[in-house]
Amino acid sequence: MRRVYLDNNASTPVLPEVLETMQPYFGEHFGNASSIHHHGQETRAAVERARQSVADLLGCRPAEVVFTGGGTEADNLAVFGLTAPGDHVITSTIEHHAVLNSCKHLTEKGIEVTSLPVDGRGLVDPDDLRRALRSNTKLVTIMFANNETGVIQPVDEIGKICTETEVYFHTDAVQAAGKVPLDVKTIGCDLLSISGHKIHAPQGVGALYVRKGTHLQPLFYGGSHERSRRAGTENVPGIVGLGKAAELALQGFARGDDKTLAALRDRLQQGILAQVDEAGVNGNGAPRVPNTTNLYFDHIEGEAIVIALDLKGLAVSTGAACSSGAIEPSHVLTAMGLSADRARASIRFSLGKQNTAEDIDFALALVPETIARLREISPVYGRQAARN
Ligand code: PLP
Repeated sequence: MRRVYLDNNASTPVLPEVLETMQPYFGEHFGNASSIHHHGQETRAAVERARQSVADLLGCRPAEVVFTGGGTEADNLAVFGLTAPGDHVITSTIEHHAVLNSCKHLTEKGIEVTSLPVDGRGLVDPDDLRRALRSNTKLVTIMFANNETGVIQPVDEIGKICTETEVYFHTDAVQAAGKVPLDVKTIGCDLLSISGHKIHAPQGVGALYVRKGTHLQPLFYGGSHERSRRAGTENVPGIVGLGKAAELALQGFARGDDKTLAALRDRLQQGILAQVDEAGVNGNGAPRVPNTTNLYFDHIEGEAIVIALDLKGLAVSTGAACSSGAIEPSHVLTAMGLSADRARASIRFSLGKQNTAEDIDFALALVPETIARLREISPVYGRQAARN
């Protein structure tokens, strides 16, 4: 059976070139990167090459890159590393749970948190940020691109406000890295998180950009790895994979891969909407990363769509992977003002570097017919359509 994977915001396949680069570090080059002998020097050199590649992707210095065990850890290190009781933190209502739940925990530690709302397009208003700032505001943590909708926040403007007011700015760029060019200086951020498995490197590795001179309390205590910012023997194969994926992402931008991806995404979105009534784009009118479209199909359950499409070989998602199967509608979509019903009727399609024009044809042949069939057998559809 043919299978097409359009859930790349959940995880991407490791690219063959990435796997090939990692392979020797599982066998031949196995040394601990902290060892002073030949084996350690070999892996240390590989880790530092990868650090340079990640720095090139982010527009920072290699010494400003801290390797972590993924995006969640990078977010936690940023949020907990900078704050102490008595501080005030500003975030948004649409953050990934890695930031959302970290901030929830801050409140239990005597740190006040303000969550900024978003408009119907999913955008934070920088003026709201200005109004929320207080004399004890220590950190602003607002994501670059949303994992469910792909909507890109006005991070440059947010960065400017934070620079002017001397407040630390962290941005979760897990869903932006590799999809849009990033430059920490243009953004004006002090901290920025990325994750390997969203950019065709393996799961369980990530990085946090930490601007030079920013003092972070570590999350764990141990050896002085990563300049004492992240104790623990480095995951050398994972880091090497992340470095290679960063290099490939940069080469991709130079070739215009992001534009090709946006064209495929747009064809998918327009093709579906041309054939399906009572459907639309969540985040319409906002800038979005090129690989994502989140669509609502009124009168049916997103979970039912995901299952029906999966049975036919197409993998998509109802939104954040961790909330799939949960009964609660997406916190991101409801924050944008969608009704609980419409939020539950929404599906995320997210493309990756491996997707082809034929994959889009496959999805276009499948999605409209599946929606029509589900609506036909839905008792809710009959009732709601009669009311309209
Ligand atoms: N932040 C965002 C926006 C994400 O989409 C994800 C993963 O879905 C994470 C953070 C967490 O990254 P990881 O899976 O590497 O822990």
